[in-house]
Amino acid sequence: MDRLCEKIWMDGEWVDWDNATLHVSAHVIHYGSAVFEGIRAYDVNGVANVFRLDEHNKRLHDSAKIYRMEVPYTLEETKQAMIDSIRVNGFTECYIRPVVYRGCGPMGVNPLRNPVNTFIMTWKWGKYLGEEALEQGVDMQIASWSRNAPNTTPSFAKCGANYASGALIKMEAISNGYAEGIALDRNGLISEGSGENIFVVRDGVIHTTPIGNSILGGITRDTIIRIAKDEGLEIRETAMPREFLYIADEIFGVGTAAEVTPLRSLDKIKIGVGKRGPVTELLQTRYMDLVQGKAEDKWGFLTPVEPK
Ligand code: PMP
Repeated sequence: MDRLCEKIWMDGEWVDWDNATLHVSAHVIHYGSAVFEGIRAYDVNGVANVFRLDEHNKRLHDSAKIYRMEVPYTLEETKQAMIDSIRVNGFTECYIRPVVYRGCGPMGVNPLRNPVNTFIMTWKWGKYLGEEALEQGVDMQIASWSRNAPNTTPSFAKCGANYASGALIKMEAISNGYAEGIALDRNGLISEGSGENIFVVRDGVIHTTPIGNSILGGITRDTIIRIAKDEGLEIRETAMPREFLYIADEIFGVGTAAEVTPLRSLDKIKIGVGKRGPVTELLQTRYMDLVQGKAEDKWGFLTPVEPK
C-alpha cells in the first residue's frame, strides 16, 4: 500500500502510516457506522489554505449528531487537529479526511455501547474526474439505482454507509463507459451524483436541486449559489425531472473533490453545445480563483496553515 502521508491523527496521538490500523471487531467495519468529511487545502504561494474548514468541521459534528454519536472533541479541537495534520505532514496542498466512527466493543448492531473514535488522514489528491474534464466536460448517465428515500438513511449526514449507494452508482457508470452517474430520488426527480451536487442552466436561469431531494447539503453547492448571486445571476432551487436535464443549455456537477465539472452529455444526449458552456465557465473560474486565493476572500473562506 502506498504511503499517502507520514502521520495520522488517531484519537489525539500521531501514528505512523504503517501502524494506523483498526481491529476487525470494530463496529464500523461490520455496519458502516462512520461519519466523515472531505476537505481540500490549496497551495497559495507555498502555504496550504483550507477551503471552508469551519463549515466542513461543523458538518462532521452534525453528521455525528444525527447518528447519536458523541464526538469526544469540541469543534475547536477537531479543527485544530485538522490544521495540525496538514502541518505535521508538511503539505502545501492536500485533501483532508476526518472520520468519526464506532470502534471496538460489544458485537451486534446496537452502536450505543461502542466507543466513538476519530482519525484524520491527509493526502495529495489531483483532479477527481481528470484535468481535461474541467474544460471539455464529461459523459454521465442517469443511474438505474435511486438515492435512499428521506426516511431510510439520512442523506444530510455524510455517513460511510451512504456510500454503498454511491459505489453502486459509480460502478454502474464506469462499467457502462461513463465518468459518473446521477441518481434520481424516490419520486424519480433529480437527486445527485455519487460525489457531486447538480446544477442546470436553462434560458439564463440556474437551477439546483432542493435539499428535500435526497442530497447531501454540499458546501461547494452553497459556494456556487453565493457566487452566482454575487454575479447577479438568477438562481433557484428546483425539483427537476430527468428530461429537464436533456434539454438544458448547460449542466455541471460540484463538490470538494470534483470542483466544478461540466457535462457534455447525459445518457448519450448532447447537452447544449457538447462542451463547457459560458455560465459554467464563469462560475468555475470564480470558484477556482476563490479556492486558490487568486480572488479576494470576501467571505473569509480560507484558513491558511503556516508550515512548521
Ligand atoms: N453529494 C455527495 C453524495 C457527496 O459525496 C459530495 C462530496 N462530499 C457532495 C454531494 C458535495 O459536497 P461538498 O461540496 O460539501 O464536497
